[in-house]
Amino acid sequence: MDRIILIRFGEIFLKGNNRYFFESALVKNIRHALKDFDFVLTRSQNRYYVENYDAGDEKAILDCLLHVPGIHSVSPAYKMTTDMKTVSANAVSLMADKSGTFRVTVNRADKKINRSSTELASEFGGDVLESNAGLKVNLFEYDTELYIDMRENGVTYMFTDKIYGVQGMPVGTAGKGLLLLSGGIDSPVAGYMMAKRGMKLDAVHFHSAPYTSEMAKQKVVDLARLVSKYATEIDLYVVPFTDIQLAIHQNCPAELMITVMRRFMMRISERLAFKTGAGAVITGESLGQVASQTLQSITVTNSVIENLPVFRPLIGMDKSEIMKISRDIGTYETSILPYEDCCTVFLPKNPVTRPKVEIAQKAESKLDVETLISKAMENIELIKVK
Ligand code: ATP
Ligand code: MG
Repeated sequence: MDRIILIRFGEIFLKGNNRYFFESALVKNIRHALKDFDFVLTRSQNRYYVENYDAGDEKAILDCLLHVPGIHSVSPAYKMTTDMKTVSANAVSLMADKSGTFRVTVNRADKKINRSSTELASEFGGDVLESNAGLKVNLFEYDTELYIDMRENGVTYMFTDKIYGVQGMPVGTAGKGLLLLSGGIDSPVAGYMMAKRGMKLDAVHFHSAPYTSEMAKQKVVDLARLVSKYATEIDLYVVPFTDIQLAIHQNCPAELMITVMRRFMMRISERLAFKTGAGAVITGESLGQVASQTLQSITVTNSVIENLPVFRPLIGMDKSEIMKISRDIGTYETSILPYEDCCTVFLPKNPVTRPKVEIAQKAESKLDVETLISKAMENIELIKVK
């Protein structure tokens, strides 16, 4: 018998005429995720199978698949020819190291077999019981479910584990968004959430060299790489932000520093999005989390964006909920490294919590907004993250 990995995909997007579109994106993303391995990908009965891989790669392949949005669940499984003796012997050997309660579930798609699924399940279950005295049958509360899928084509798949994936939609099926990626906890989570809904991501980071170190920038590249495990490749645009910050620092009231800074980030992001074909801007803001994320602050920041929607997938989440996702997706440890991103450098003691659009506009009237933006845009660095 051969070892294979069975991939189930969400059913929702398979209905209707878009099926081919969604499925081909999924297959492309699976191949991308497994680009470092030798394998064969086959499809049958609404499932994909990864076959002919090196046994030593199995754990790593599973890990990659569990990062691919659109995959509902995976099962490492055995594939064998449908022959009662073979199936029984393999069932026995697969359950040899198990103890406690179990049940056997048989799916008999092969109608040439003239026994029902229930009869087959009790027959194979009996064989397992006979050879392993440490097991008991319980059809309703069981420690292990041995699943035997007897397909029409004379092939049987057998497995005990079902591992849930990211679920969601295949990346590339919901357009492209530009993620404002800081070095913090929140924005990588925001990127993950949109990738999970099928968005391809570009990322933009505003960098304040020499006030922030090369390490701070590297941290953002590392975070983009971690998010890219879910989101396929990410183009990361690093915008030099120091001159803009200095200009704001010198010309605007200190308490408006962050408000005006964030308006510049939004303006530049929108222009960049137009250049790269992104149809939305994504931030890691969460309502009321800090002064710049009150309803009034968000209104003032948002008002400079003219033509694109701004997605804030964390808007209704508590910090603890965001931190949990961050740990689950593997970005937390990198996010909490102590290198400062640009926002902390010029942080005022008392930032406004209820800014007004007119007041921000007045503060900006001393600045040459256009020139500052053009200069920053001319010096953007592109890092391709894979
Ligand atoms: P995060 O944990 O994502 O840094 P935060 O809680 O620190 O968020 P802010 O610093 O107010 O909150 O930033 C809010 C959002 O603005 C971030 O989630 C991110 O999307 C964007 N942002 C902030 N700083 C930068 C930066 N230097 N470059 C790019 N985007 C940024
Ligand atoms: Mg931050």
